[in-house]
Amino acid sequence: MSSTSGSAPAFLSLSGEDFSALVAKLGGRPFHGRIVRQAILEKGQLDFSLMTSLPREVRDGLQREVRLLAGRELERVVSKDRTTKLLLSFARDGERDATVETVHIPPRDPTRGAGATLCVSTQVGCPVGCPFCASGKAGLVRNLETHEIVEQYLRGRALGELSRSVVMGIGEPLLNFANLKAALDIVHDEMGMGSRKVTVSTVGFPDRLRRIAPTKPRFQLAISLHTPDDDQRGELVPAMAGVPIEEILAAGDDWFEKTGREVTYEYVLLSGTNDSPGHAERLARRLARRRCSVNLIPFNPVRGAPYGRPVLAAVELFQQALAAERVIGTVRWSRGVDSDAACGQLRIKNLA
Ligand code: SAH
Ligand code: SF4
Repeated sequence: MSSTSGSAPAFLSLSGEDFSALVAKLGGRPFHGRIVRQAILEKGQLDFSLMTSLPREVRDGLQREVRLLAGRELERVVSKDRTTKLLLSFARDGERDATVETVHIPPRDPTRGAGATLCVSTQVGCPVGCPFCASGKAGLVRNLETHEIVEQYLRGRALGELSRSVVMGIGEPLLNFANLKAALDIVHDEMGMGSRKVTVSTVGFPDRLRRIAPTKPRFQLAISLHTPDDDQRGELVPAMAGVPIEEILAAGDDWFEKTGREVTYEYVLLSGTNDSPGHAERLARRLARRRCSVNLIPFNPVRGAPYGRPVLAAVELFQQALAAERVIGTVRWSRGVDSDAACGQLRIKNLA
């Protein structure tokens, strides 16, 4: 991958007009801007010097004056199941911390021809502060720019073909929605990923969901619920304290009505905290008559977090208690557990 050090602007951070002006200054023709964009976004070409359909002076000039990618790879951790976690820094001049994580998860069975799933971040840190999550530990530093979100897809694709993506990395997507939306437009329209192949996970701000739903967003929605009890939700998702669970579920119903796409509810199972059969029954009562599905995510241990991972029998009991009310819960055992699997862990370790 080519990169020019210093404070040269990153290619994807330039507007179309600015880039055309730069190409003209380097002696190129107006259509050369489009060729470069296609080479990067469609074809995954991450080195200006290899873009041989450009005149040599334009290639050389681009290498001098822009960086193809804005970020730096600080660390790469590959686990036994080939899941690859990248720690990326988007620090600009004078910025102390702008690290995020991007995770490339290859298919379990590579012979079936499917590509990998990419997990991307939307913010440096997170302001929501869930006590079981490493991403929220140090609060929010800043929102990622559109091009920084797109860059995660470019770097992820360079590790192996992508067929899906989950916006489940560091940050709360609805608090940086304009930049995320612009990035997903590029990912869909220029990188060719289908809109049903992208899932955005959020703690579910009802007002924001109700504003977004009528715009026919091009992604699947997942809402992190974690408990059927209002009091406990305020503890587990502090920024949402005081927002009744029923209001979130009603916004989920509205989402289904407006978009025709079912919502998935996510539930991190924390041993002895929210994994009792009583919790399952109360959750089932709330969801029983709704068109939705549930993902059960056994907690991935996070250093310093006062929670434990439930044993398999407890997970199965929870699932059965849901099933008794005809609510289907799918258990999602996280991949890459041998390498700081819980999102945000690599970043926190690096900050320490
Ligand atoms: N902020 C968004 C998206 C990022 S978190 C959200 O909270 O939905 C993506 C998912 O990972 C959420 O469901 C979150 O609850 C879950 N998660 C966070 N830390 C975890 C951990 N240590 N173990 C298991 N799941 C975790
Ligand atoms: Fe933020 Fe999601 Fe982590 Fe909560 S679980 S702190 S909302 S990233």
